Amino acid sequence: MSALIDLHTHSTASDGSLAPEELVARAAAAGVEVLALTDHDTTAGVAAATQAAGELGLVLIPGVEVSVTWGGRTIHVLGLGVDPENPALQEGLARLVDYRHWRAEEIARRLAAEGIDGAHAGAAAFARGRSIGRTHFARFLVSRGHARDLREVFKRFLVRGKPGHVPGEWAALDEAVAWIRTAGGRAVIAHPARYGLTRTKLNRLVGELKEAGGVGIEVVSGSHSRDDVLNFGRYARERGLLASAGSDYHGPEAGWMGLGRLPPLPAGCTPIWADWAIARHRIRACG
Ligand code: AMP
Ligand code: MN
Ligand code: MN
Ligand code: MN
Repeated sequence: MSALIDLHTHSTASDGSLAPEELVARAAAAGVEVLALTDHDTTAGVAAATQAAGELGLVLIPGVEVSVTWGGRTIHVLGLGVDPENPALQEGLARLVDYRHWRAEEIARRLAAEGIDGAHAGAAAFARGRSIGRTHFARFLVSRGHARDLREVFKRFLVRGKPGHVPGEWAALDEAVAWIRTAGGRAVIAHPARYGLTRTKLNRLVGELKEAGGVGIEVVSGSHSRDDVLNFGRYARERGLLASAGSDYHGPEAGWMGLGRLPPLPAGCTPIWADWAIARHRIRACG
């Protein structure tokens, strides 16, 4: 059974390689009927994606993937169904974009100290005027032959303990959830298996998410193994969390899970879209 919903994707508004309208066209061609655009710390692609979705007859859920610093690590929180015009959300995101600009300069300074010059301009060229992320540095470093592919370049340069790593100072968890809720959205912990949290820490994270008003967790994710899907499906049921599903698609390059090519949610999960009038009658898979 093919999934017709995909609630986690990126465009050129952040570190995806397709423009919002190209992403939507590709999703439509892949049979996706409900698509969330969730760029890192920005909703800049939502208007173009919404227009394209209207023309192609698919439902576009306006979203964002907010970078959060929690317990000394970076956690991603998805906001699904946010109003991109909401001032509180936009003020919050603007702060993160400012931090991103400073961080990009700092990453470039650190790479320069390693003898790699021109990284800021190089990454900016890949970002094409949008805010710069580590993925843009990674593409630049690969283009200069410093590593063979994105996976290797992250490992050698861009993760904790490596020369191009800058510790994050993103949003606090409760702030991020407040921005999302104020903008009418639902806050969801993205790709929970990626953080390598112990059960105790995961429980603490989810406790704080719920206290702030967050309601969901990504059970199906492009970065989850089959076991992760089962484990987080069980976890979502035990903790009364709504279950979300998204590919985390960044573009057609090899290595990313296909748009909408998602396994179903494990039985017994409550899908985060269960009460979305717009989606209810159209989604055949997942659940
Ligand atoms: P940033 O928000 O700028 O720190 O960048 C985070 C993004 O980098 C993630 O959303 C992924 O797109 C990408 N990323 C992180 N780790 C890796 C990795 N090991 N391989 C490829 N891409 C990665
Ligand atoms: Mn990304
Ligand atoms: Mn993420
Ligand atoms: Mn993502």
